[in-house]
Amino acid sequence: MDNKIENWITPNPAVVDAEDLLVNAIHTMAEKQIGAILVTQNDELSGIFTERDLLRLFSDNTEKAFKEHLMGPIKTFMTASPICAQSKDDYNTVYMKMKTHDVRHIPILEDKELVGIVSMRDLIHHYQNKLETAFNEARQEIEDLKKLVSVTGSEKIETLIKEVQKYRELSLTDHLTGLFNKRYFQARLVEEVTRAKRSSYEISLIFCDIDYFKRVNDRFGHHMGDEVLRQMAQILRGGVDELNIVSRLRKSDIIARYGGEEFVIILPETGKQGAAIAAERLRQQVENNTFRLNGEDIHLTMSFGVAELSPEDEDYTEIIKNADYAMYKAKNSGRNRVVVYPSD
Ligand code: GH3
Ligand code: MG
Ligand code: MG
Repeated sequence: MDNKIENWITPNPAVVDAEDLLVNAIHTMAEKQIGAILVTQNDELSGIFTERDLLRLFSDNTEKAFKEHLMGPIKTFMTASPICAQSKDDYNTVYMKMKTHDVRHIPILEDKELVGIVSMRDLIHHYQNKLETAFNEARQEIEDLKKLVSVTGSEKIETLIKEVQKYRELSLTDHLTGLFNKRYFQARLVEEVTRAKRSSYEISLIFCDIDYFKRVNDRFGHHMGDEVLRQMAQILRGGVDELNIVSRLRKSDIIARYGGEEFVIILPETGKQGAAIAAERLRQQVENNTFRLNGEDIHLTMSFGVAELSPEDEDYTEIIKNADYAMYKAKNSGRNRVVVYPSD
């Protein structure tokens, strides 16, 4: 039942008329923080315009030409007759369709009438929730069985432990912070690097690590340390979410907890200069935040390393190594700073 895509659509998607100006469409996208807008003509769906189109338009044109385009009708810049799905389709069909056509947003029709839109992001969240529910159920079962095992010592518990481990392996998120975990990050980086190489666009990575985090644990205890990690994750995620499309940074940037007090952000279609700006913005947000621990106000900082994929890089491990190296440089040169690899 919950496999039906109609349970996952965003209804009443933002729509503009084909004759509307591009600039108005972009304003709507920025205001509603959405990555795609649908275009209609005579009340029928005729196209879609996404942040990817906007980035392309921005990078393929001079500033003057770009400004002129902004005052043109959106129908000139949209993708006409977009790939659509039907509301009765199931999750897998829609997911595969998006993968095959390499689209991140897909309008949903009921017969010919537009009923909503689905983004890849929604589908990933759906998948994540399913895994988490399954994991929690398995954990509950194992708790119940543990009580029994003293009596029966059954084999079933062995099987269940394996099941739970399997769920854990399938999990995409980090339990403490709710961010993506290292496993998901690595899988996603491989995917994004492959795509970047294929379409020869830029991609960057930000590595960051809390400065002197050990002191927080020593002074306030591990429990409070965990609370700081949760709050730090919120700050970083908030920073990523509020970056707007016009500054070339996007909601689709992928943020993960890499380990301990270390986080990592993938920025597709972004070069190292853009990534350095994003990192600097995050650095300031962390520096200006006040953490309240046991009634005491404390301030923390983070060190950031930035690297972009270079055409010579054999695979995704190079960019990780370089961003990590840049972060190590940031630590060694006094912390609370952004270092870009290679330094210019
Ligand atoms: P630096 O500025 O060089 O990064 O100093 P630091 O103290 O942050 O670095 P160090 O690597 O020496 O210490 C990191 C500490 O982070 C050690 C470890 O106890 C703590 N830590 C790692 N994971 C967790 C966690 O999940 N929860 C808590 N509370 N602490 C953690
Ligand atoms: Mg640290
Ligand atoms: Mg560390």
